[in-house]
Amino acid sequence: MSAATKTVCLLGLPFDRGSTFLQGPALAPPIIRKALASDSSNLWTEDGHDLGAAHALHDLGDLVLPEEGHKALPLIENAVSNALALGQPLICLGGDHSVTYPILRGFRSHHADLTILHFDAHPDLYDELNGELSHACPFARIMENGLAQRLVQVGIRTINQHQLEQARRFGVEVISMRHREQLAALQLEGPLYVSLDLDVLDPAFAPGISHYEPGGMSVRDVLDVIQAVRVPIVGADIVEFNPTRDRDGQTAMVCAKFLKEIAAAMLRGGGATRTDWV
Ligand code: MN
Ligand code: MN
Repeated sequence: MSAATKTVCLLGLPFDRGSTFLQGPALAPPIIRKALASDSSNLWTEDGHDLGAAHALHDLGDLVLPEEGHKALPLIENAVSNALALGQPLICLGGDHSVTYPILRGFRSHHADLTILHFDAHPDLYDELNGELSHACPFARIMENGLAQRLVQVGIRTINQHQLEQARRFGVEVISMRHREQLAALQLEGPLYVSLDLDVLDPAFAPGISHYEPGGMSVRDVLDVIQAVRVPIVGADIVEFNPTRDRDGQTAMVCAKFLKEIAAAMLRGGGATRTDWV
């Protein structure tokens, strides 16, 4: 695989010891792959990329991770850095949301001045909650360590006084569900990293999550934002899918759909969608 061939790399991170409420997301990566390969759909993206074509996807498999966050962190960081050395965009399959901090540490030596587009019901900006590496804290760690020059959060509907203060301290741009009309004016710069916590969705669309927070986005709302991106996406994660809570594989298929459409956006490289297509 040469860097001239545009490929999207996949890496599974089966880790859920950052979860503060339920275990289960560690089971997600192979189930997302199975949904992606399911005969119930195909591998064409909505804008006409065939992800079943040779070299469209390059699967790096799943990491073997210890349960302790402080031991898993350097393993994730190193694996992500090694994956990025291939010179291709990377999608990580979580895992709970704590993995995003070590992922971004792995990005540090490859991509400067990242903008993060973060979909979530929760800001995940706690200074500490059940340990400083929990899934309630990754974006505090990321901003403290200067791993992004800009953080835009979309779909937020659980902010509290502490996290509001953290958001102001770090200059986070919060587009809450209440003010989602602000999405229409959102201007993004590249390189872009997309962090997609499944609980940004209304639980009606994705029962396979740990934290049900009603009043969220639809699958189509999220796809509209991803398909409107006109800057290069260099990395992404799809996190917080909890297969133990899923029903009939519904949420697994949502994860596969997001994987496909983020991959399509990566393959467009910031270009517009095809005009000779439906
Ligand atoms: Mn989250
Ligand atoms: Mn969340």
